[in-house]
Amino acid sequence: MNETFEHPDAAIAAIADRVLPVGVELGCEDLVGRVLAESIHADRDSPAADVSAMDGYAIFPGQLSQSGELNVVAECVPGSPPPELSPSKSSGSGVVRIFTGAVVPRGCDRVIQREHTIESQATIDDDAASLGTIRWKPQANESQPGLNIRRRGENLRGGDLALPAGTLVKSPQMASLANFGIRSASVYSLVRVAIITTGDEMASEGDGGPPISPWQIRNSNSLTLAALIDACSYTVIPTLAHSPDEPEALRGVIEQAIASHDAVLLTGGVSMGDHDYVPSVLKNMGAETIFHRLPLRPGRPILGVVYQETSQAPVKPILGLPGNPVSATMGAVRFALPLIAKLAGVSDWNPHPPLVRLEDAGSKTLPLHWMRAVRMIGPGLAELVIGQGSGDLVSMAQSDGFIEMPANANDEGPWPYFAWS
Ligand code: AMP
Ligand code: MG
Repeated sequence: MNETFEHPDAAIAAIADRVLPVGVELGCEDLVGRVLAESIHADRDSPAADVSAMDGYAIFPGQLSQSGELNVVAECVPGSPPPELSPSKSSGSGVVRIFTGAVVPRGCDRVIQREHTIESQATIDDDAASLGTIRWKPQANESQPGLNIRRRGENLRGGDLALPAGTLVKSPQMASLANFGIRSASVYSLVRVAIITTGDEMASEGDGGPPISPWQIRNSNSLTLAALIDACSYTVIPTLAHSPDEPEALRGVIEQAIASHDAVLLTGGVSMGDHDYVPSVLKNMGAETIFHRLPLRPGRPILGVVYQETSQAPVKPILGLPGNPVSATMGAVRFALPLIAKLAGVSDWNPHPPLVRLEDAGSKTLPLHWMRAVRMIGPGLAELVIGQGSGDLVSMAQSDGFIEMPANANDEGPWPYFAWS
């Protein structure tokens, strides 16, 4: 079989190029975890006025040269408009006490932080309205114009782009949305993923049913893949289905899944065995094979196809992952998650895995991209979790993720690291 793609990224891109984001939902109010389908623009300047970045004293030019006691003539508090003061009058007579976030009075050119002043409280003998006095400490004279003032529009000008379409809304993006008064927005629809496991060896244990036999296995892939899809905030709860190793039954299950989902993930039945019907069934359905077999371990038999019911219908990706639990899980993280992000409308759908070094890479090399389970043991440092191969789901559960080494490498890296979600 022709292994068309040298690198997993190229194989993923070849499918991603063919699929478009799913539909759009208008006026969504629950935006956390969703992907914006419209750009968000600032409704006003951020900040909306010149505001103080400190608790201190707003001063007019020239007031620092005044020695001795200066009267505090007004207070600026957050949530109130600033007092209108005439510079000539104020510069002669006093300063304005200001609190963080309050609007700086017109004409003031800086804010001297409290710590750089000596403050005297008003006494009982003073006028009831007196706000006390201050004197400058030497540090105050080192200040420059503009000090401690957050300028109107310095974050963003009203009307400018705050968040482009294709942004995944997490907590920081909520700050921006809230700040610009966005309560609802158009988002991409949640991606519907179907997970189909295959194999006659799967036990269906139920109340009162026969106990599991040694020639049967429990269906772990189904729940592993469901957990991965569930962890994506932009998917609906995936649909789980199972098919025996029988072409007609398999075709029925796939057709049903594809009709009501945006992507289908299959596990098992993609190798060269006599009971591996997934590639031929998909081919007979008219799916277009993008890749079958990649220079990859584990998961070499992986199958990537796209399916379009009619020429007007959306192109849907279908991944056939090998049945071995480690292959299926790593394959789902590496191949399925980016494609689902693309379907979900995430503009930056390509993963940016951090790089980690291996404490000990061992001496073995492979002429394939090698995905190896690791445990993080320090900042940017991982150790290999040595298991019994692609069926060893026990050791996989003791890992934090996997690294990917290119063909023939066996050094410490650093290598791209894909954490489990
Ligand atoms: P296959 O790719 O169908 O040849 O399966 C390879 C191996 O993975 C076999 O040992 C299967 O028993 C195992 N396997 C297949 N499907 C699952 C599943 N859903 N859960 C756990 N193991 C599986
Ligand atoms: Mg099988």
